[in-house]
Amino acid sequence: MGMLEGKNILVTGVLTEGSIAFHVARLCQEQGATVLLSGVGRSLKITQAMGRRLPVEAQVVELDVTDEEQVAALPERVREHLPHLDGVVHSIGFAPQSVMGGNFMTGEWPDVSTAVQISAYSLKALAAATAPLMSEGGSIVGLTFDGRYAWPVYDWMGVAKAAFEAVSRYVARDLGPQGIRCNVVSAGPIKTTAAKHIPGFDQMESNWDTRAPLGWDSSDPEPAAKAVTALLTDWFPATTGEMIHVDGGVHAMGQ
Ligand code: NAD
Repeated sequence: MGMLEGKNILVTGVLTEGSIAFHVARLCQEQGATVLLSGVGRSLKITQAMGRRLPVEAQVVELDVTDEEQVAALPERVREHLPHLDGVVHSIGFAPQSVMGGNFMTGEWPDVSTAVQISAYSLKALAAATAPLMSEGGSIVGLTFDGRYAWPVYDWMGVAKAAFEAVSRYVARDLGPQGIRCNVVSAGPIKTTAAKHIPGFDQMESNWDTRAPLGWDSSDPEPAAKAVTALLTDWFPATTGEMIHVDGGVHAMGQ
């Protein structure tokens, strides 16, 4: 029997077969879950095509986290496919290139606010919209790139990730009494569409493999996806507000 048998999971952020979320969706299905995807209007058809490439075809609901009406309509859209949810995966991130790639000191608020809204505030928006669907409790899991540090070229996306991690702790505080956990997985660099959008991503990635005691393969999203899947199971019943590193061990090394 799979570790997610009988559970209903909403997975955001499936854009390509390389998306971390695609592998989360696949692993969740392999562990017995029913998976519903969400996709953004302009790329909805691509997400639908990805849904057909999963082991079991997954339905897709539309969700652009910057669109208040779509966020408000999410519970209704989910209920068209599933009566309730047991888990939600936040795998969403975006920042304009003007605030990454060495542009920290020149970054301006309109672009910074886009990064913070899509990459950090959206976790609160998603959690608030889906909490009523998790009346029996549940697990919300997000993806971050350790926001405690100033990384090369990550710039305002790094600030947004620090905010995202803080949002996760507040969601854990406010939804804990309803039995809803909220945790994040801090992954090492993985060559996805979002990563390729970061100017100079190779500077973040360089030497990661040699610095990681376990080594690191930036073309393999599965280790991060496995940790997300594990956090969706009942095997972390007393863990919330936590950041779990899946980075080959780099976070624990001095140099
Ligand atoms: P990806 O490009 O496959 O996924 C990013 C997703 O964000 C896409 O599906 C995109 O549609 C979605 N998105 C963007 N704007 C949105 C909006 N307004 N509303 C709803 N969805 C929106 O790349 P990925 O690397 O799989 O990214 C998933 C998550 O993992 C992100 O939070 C990212 O920051 C995080 N992460 C990535 C890495 C890495 O190196 N790739 C490392 C650590 C954490």
